[in-house]
This record gives sequence, C-alpha cells and structure tokens, in this order.
Amino acid sequence: MASYSIRIVGDPVLAEPTKEITEIDGRLVKVIDAMFDTLYGSDTGIGLAANQVGVQKRLFVYDLEGGDDPQVLINPRITGSDGEWVYAEGCLSIPGVHYDIVRPKTVEVTAVGLDGNEFSFEADELFSRLIQHEIDHLDGKLMLEHLDKDQLKDAKRAIREMRLAREAEPPRRSGFRLR
Ligand code: ZN
Repeated sequence: MASYSIRIVGDPVLAEPTKEITEIDGRLVKVIDAMFDTLYGSDTGIGLAANQVGVQKRLFVYDLEGGDDPQVLINPRITGSDGEWVYAEGCLSIPGVHYDIVRPKTVEVTAVGLDGNEFSFEADELFSRLIQHEIDHLDGKLMLEHLDKDQLKDAKRAIREMRLAREAEPPRRSGFRLR
C-alpha cells in the first residue's frame, strides 16, 4: 500500500491549474489507488484532488460513505448550477479550520469515469459542495477565495500558527512514501 503526503496551503502546486487527462492507463490507476490510501489515511477527508498530493492531473477521488464508496471523477467540469446552500467547509490542505461558505446548492457535472466513458449527472448539497470544492482545487484555487473579510483574517492567522508549529517540528519527507 502506498500513499502520498498531502500538500499544505502555500505549496505552489495548489495554485497551479491541473492538466486534462488524455489516457487512462495502469500508471494512472496506481496514482488513483495511492490517492485513496491518502484520503482514507486522513480520517477527516471526503475528497482529494490530484494536485493536493502534487500530481498535476485533472482528477479527484471521493467517498461520501466513509470508506464504502470510493469514486473517481476524471476531467470533471461544472456545466450548470442552481440555488444557494451554506456549509461549514474544511480542506485537507488547510488543516484545522472550517468556515460557513455559501455556494450553489446543486450543480450539473460532466466527467469521465475510469472506464473512459463521459457521463453527466446532477449533484445536490454535500455531494455538490464536494464537487465544487475539488474542482476549485483542480483549477488551482483554494476555499480561501470564498471567505468573507473576517473569515479570511481568521484563516490567515490560523495558517500562520500552523506554519510556526510545523517549523518547530523535525522536517518531514514529502512525496511518495511506503507504509
Ligand atoms: Zn480542499
């Protein structure tokens, strides 16, 4: 079993838009497997975008059933949205904080599955929020862009404190590791 280290806010890979996937092969499947191990190892995450583990590919993995329903969306895009919904959003790349963020309640999504076939569907509430959050990652954006002034001030303080705490720790290896 292999997993990745999750990249943390400030890492330039999180600010860079990912590249469309043109080929689904064994190498990609290995990357996806390691992403699931990373997601399940995180214990709080329900979704993980490829660039959160330093892979510049347009895909994300998710599981809304706590380990029972692993899913992957390749080259996902939102084609429509409707309504408003508030949810206390968190991010594995910004550990320890959650903020109430308003976003569309439902989204129309088109993506490619592991079988290479394109499909479209509508997602609501938590599923919709997850997709919007992960597609932001794939576009090089973080949820910080959706915060109001006070939330952003608080987030910047939390990020500063997290950096100081991490600098006090011994250096950690990044990239691929075996467990
Ligand atoms: Zn995130």
